[in-house]
Formats: sequence, C-alpha cells, structure tokens
Amino acid sequence: MHYQNSLDFAKKCDAQDVLAPYRNEFHFPQHQNQNCYYFTGNSLGLMPKKVRAYVETELKSWETYGVEGHFEGPNPWMHYHKLFSEKAAKIVGAKPLEVVVMNTLTTNLHLLMVSFYRPSATRYKIIMEGGAFPSDQYAVESQVKFHGFIPDDAIIELVPREGEVHLRHDDILQAIQENGAETALLMLGGVNYYTGQWFNMPEITQAGHDVGAVVGFDLAHAAGNVPVQLHDWNVDFACWCSYKYLNSGPGGPAGVFVHERHANNPALPRFAGWWGHDESERFKMRKGFQPMQGAAGWQLSNAQVMAMAPHLASLDLFDQVGMPALRAKSEQLTGYLAFLLAELQHKFPQSGLRIITPTKAHERGCQQSMLLPTIGRQVFEHLQKNGVIADWREPDVIRVAPVPLYNSFEDVYHLVKLLDEALGMLDNK
Ligand SMILES: *Cc1c(COP(=O)(O)O)cnc(C)c1O
Repeated sequence: MHYQNSLDFAKKCDAQDVLAPYRNEFHFPQHQNQNCYYFTGNSLGLMPKKVRAYVETELKSWETYGVEGHFEGPNPWMHYHKLFSEKAAKIVGAKPLEVVVMNTLTTNLHLLMVSFYRPSATRYKIIMEGGAFPSDQYAVESQVKFHGFIPDDAIIELVPREGEVHLRHDDILQAIQENGAETALLMLGGVNYYTGQWFNMPEITQAGHDVGAVVGFDLAHAAGNVPVQLHDWNVDFACWCSYKYLNSGPGGPAGVFVHERHANNPALPRFAGWWGHDESERFKMRKGFQPMQGAAGWQLSNAQVMAMAPHLASLDLFDQVGMPALRAKSEQLTGYLAFLLAELQHKFPQSGLRIITPTKAHERGCQQSMLLPTIGRQVFEHLQKNGVIADWREPDVIRVAPVPLYNSFEDVYHLVKLLDEALGMLDNK
C-alpha cells in the first residue's frame, strides 16, 4: 500500500475498508460529545454493543428459572463452557478439544505450570523474557521457589543486546541451545506487552523441543491480535486473557490451550476440580478424579456465566470476521501508523522519538510503542486533553494499538496529527 499523510487519504482508506461497519458494533467513550480516539485495545478492548443483550439473556434465565437455569433457557449453564471452545479455538489455531475458557490468566498460568513445569535436579530452569509482564514474573518466580529452586539461578531472562530495544530471534535460539540441557520450560509471551514484538513462535517451539524442553506461551497480547497456529506449531500449552484484544470486559474469563498430545494424557499431574472430572460421572459425586478428555480436563469450577456472557458476545463478532480478515486490515492500519510515525521522526529529529516496536509486519501485531525521553509525559498529556486514550508506561513510553475491529484510518491520522502538534509546541520552547 502506498500511504499518504492526509486526511483525504485516511478517509479514502476507511471508505474502502470492508471491516469499517464493525466500528458501529462498539461503544466508544466520549470526549466533547465525540468518540474518543481509542488506542488502548491492548489493555481493555471496547465494549461490544451486543454484550448487554447477552448478559440480559442469562439474567433472564436466572430470574425465570432459578437453579433450573442449569438445564433450561437458551443456554443451559450446565453446558455453558462448551459454547466457547470452538470459537476460541479458531482464534488461536487449535482444535476445539484443545481449548477451554475458564478462570483468569494468572490463575491458568499457575495451573498449566503445575502440569508442564516438572523440574528435575538437573533440568529445572525456565527461560523467559527479561522484563516480562509482572504477573508472569511473579508466577514463574513463585513456581520455581515452590519446587525448591532459587529464582536467580533457575530463571534465565532473555534481554536485548546493549543499545537495542527488542530481542533478536537468533539470540533467542542461541540462548535455548546454550541452556538446553538444563531447561525444563520455555515460557514467553507471544507478543511482548511493552515493545509489541511478536516472536517467531513456531521456530522457538521447535528449538525448545529440540533441546528437550516444554514450550508454553502467554498470549495475552497475541490472542485476537495476530494469527497463531498453536496446534500446527506444536506448542505444548498456552493461555490468554479475554479483556484486551478480545473485548470481553474487565477481569473477563481467560483461555487455555493444551496440545492434543498432552490433553488426553490422564497421567499428567494437575490440580483438579469437579468441572474437570469426566462429565458422565460428574454428578455421581464419587471419589477418584477422572479427567475429561482435552483441555476441559483442567477446569476446576462450574462456568462463571455472568462474566462469560460478554466473552460470548465478543467471540461471535470474531467468528463473523475471522482472523485472516482482521489481520489483513491490521497490517494496513498499523502500517499506516508506522508510516506516519516515521515521517514524524524525520520531521522532529531532536525530539528523541524512537519506535521500539519491530518494523517488519511479521514481527509485530497492531501495537506501536513510542519511546519519548524527557518530553514523553507532556506529549501524552496533550493527547489526553484532545480526546486520545492511549497508554503511558513509566518512565517514557507511550503505547498505542489501532485495533482493526473498531479503529479507523482517520483515528490513526488524528493521533499522529496531535503528536505532531505536541512535538511542534515542545520544539519551540
Ligand atoms: C494483561 C496481562 C496479564 C494480566 O493477568 P491477569 O491474571 O489477567 O490479571 C498477565 N500477563 C500478561 C503478559 C499480560 O499482558
């Protein structure tokens, strides 16, 4: 695509965008009676308008049937969790059997590490990103300690080279090889939350398996953002949250993937609950846990229906659109943002503006992270004053994510125009 820095061009792109009508499926926060320029779908996705009706349906069942709602109404709650597997599986490139929606992300990370971090005296290390999302750091640290190891020794953090901002793929592969014999688990984000770097998941998975390690991914910033093929890539396990790119509301339910190779292995150790127990026997209330086949065998509790209803509304939208169409628009939209930001850098060389997200499309999702030393906070405040909702990370990074389901090329154009204004004002001081 040949991009131009003009409002006309942005409007023309919107007019040609086949996904443009989906913008109207979402509620936008307002600023001076206009839609905000919302760029924080990487943190909390916007509310689909249909959510209210989906929640209302379950409230109505409760109101009408009480406990019988487990068997009555449009979506009997007894089977509610089953409404999700197929739809969620399409988003992460899995078989329905390999996916279950349950709990929250960090909880699931722990449950999966119970099964997949099985250290021995000689093979006990975990390779992860340096500066991973704090919850992942704490989860890994506490798991390592739980097994009697020392975090500083057992956790290998991958960090960029001196002066660089993201990890080189070859360095990741090399670290896996160098530490292979001692590594029990490789646990990376699919897309790094800070830089927006999308890792080469299939090659990393292969490299991990080649040295005899288990490979899992935290897809919090990847699910619904980039197309992944967990089954074909042979990933061992993965988990993700639903409130970021999957637009399912604050604290919404999380997803879990367990590869078929493991999913039907009842011998894998796990923390069990009655909803993971063989459903044909579940209500016989007998002793002796027999896991369900598939990822469903990791469930603990009966479905959190009220929290899951918004997720269903959102997954139905994803189902209509499909990841290939979403990704196609996402590449164009983020490509446009990257083009405009590169112009801005050129125009204000003194500003110190640096994009820390990889420039190649196959190494990023929709997020762009801007490093703005010294003036970052002032620039961010100028955006806020003018109706932009973006994300500020101390000490000097602004993260913006143009989301293909509801952001427009015009949104992107205005964002960069406001950045241009801010940098112009600060330049003159
Ligand atoms: C958003 C995010 C989390 C949040 O965890 P919750 O358990 O949902 O609160 C964890 N890890 C990563 C990588 C994230 O991006």
